[in-house]
Amino acid sequence: MKTEKKRYKIKEFSTFFLALPVLFCLLFCNGCSKSFQKTVTTFACDTVVTITYYDKKDEKAVNDALSYLSELELVFSRTKENSELYALNEALHKGEDFVVGKDLYQALVMSYEAAKESDGAFDFTLGNVSDLWNFTGETPHVPDAAVLAEALSHTGCEKIHLEGIFVTDAEESNPGGIVSSEDASLSVDLGGMAKGYMGQKLKEQLMEAGVTSALLNLGGNVVAIGKKPDGTKFQIGIAKPEKDSSEYVSTVGIANEAAVTSGIYQRYFEENGKWYHHILDPKTGVPVESDVASVTVIYRDSGMADILSTTMFVTGPDYAETYVKNCPQDITVIYVMKDGSLKEFSNK
Ligand code: AMP
Ligand code: MG
Repeated sequence: MKTEKKRYKIKEFSTFFLALPVLFCLLFCNGCSKSFQKTVTTFACDTVVTITYYDKKDEKAVNDALSYLSELELVFSRTKENSELYALNEALHKGEDFVVGKDLYQALVMSYEAAKESDGAFDFTLGNVSDLWNFTGETPHVPDAAVLAEALSHTGCEKIHLEGIFVTDAEESNPGGIVSSEDASLSVDLGGMAKGYMGQKLKEQLMEAGVTSALLNLGGNVVAIGKKPDGTKFQIGIAKPEKDSSEYVSTVGIANEAAVTSGIYQRYFEENGKWYHHILDPKTGVPVESDVASVTVIYRDSGMADILSTTMFVTGPDYAETYVKNCPQDITVIYVMKDGSLKEFSNK
């Protein structure tokens, strides 16, 4: 077996999830009373996952997709001790190199490139810092400043090295890669993109199985396959960014795209009257403080949409405006500001 390695040097500098759905899927089927529609619901990746489909023949494909989701969860969970990401972090903490499979490698490369492109606003090495805040635990709290500074010194994408393995005479040209880090205290956290990545993989598998119309919702990361059977777009509601709100401030139509939101109301806690949410400024290790309440990205690749929503929450609207202008693919970005106003950028 001939192998060839490609080395990615990382110049710039993520936790799993429990997201209250911040995007509502409005699945009312206007004027199609005779058509079939079924939604299956499961709980995976610490969140509620639904798949809505419109053709009885797709039942097997949808069940297969749910099994695939369980497999992917065992790749990307940062908390499950039998996951691949958990094993990667354990190996890095022992100073060892670790061979990862195709999906984890692809997600790491996407994250690394996003870190470079965003000048570190997207940072998948914030695991130790996120752990200190403990947003997913029962007792989240503001960490001690000195402890936070110490954890922050063990972050930085430039400290991670990725070497792709290309097997030239095998069917699978890119089976994965080798991950290493010079900092044994660094922890990889793909919470800013993993649900989006998984949604994209489920979509691809469903489409390969012949599904032409379906809507996936992984805790507010919404992925459309095609359009609704009546030829109209899926209508997605953008949540009003208020505690426990089930109202929405705007709706957006998506066809064959993903709509992913990052916001202050997904994971948070309050301490001494102050609100702390889970998206961190990689420069300080504390939750981003700005006028932004949420940002929704509509883009054809769900993994990328997830990366961009986290990035654009950190950077704010000016970066998003320039990004949208220069993006060769169709993209729409909708900010909901804390004062309730909306800012929308689109190149469609
Ligand atoms: P999302 O809801 O997609 O914006 O992702 C938020 C999750 O990503 C957090 O719960 C952390 O696990 C992780 N995270 C926090 N801050 C960042 C950041 N600046 N860059 C990348 N991932 C982050
Ligand atoms: Mg994200």
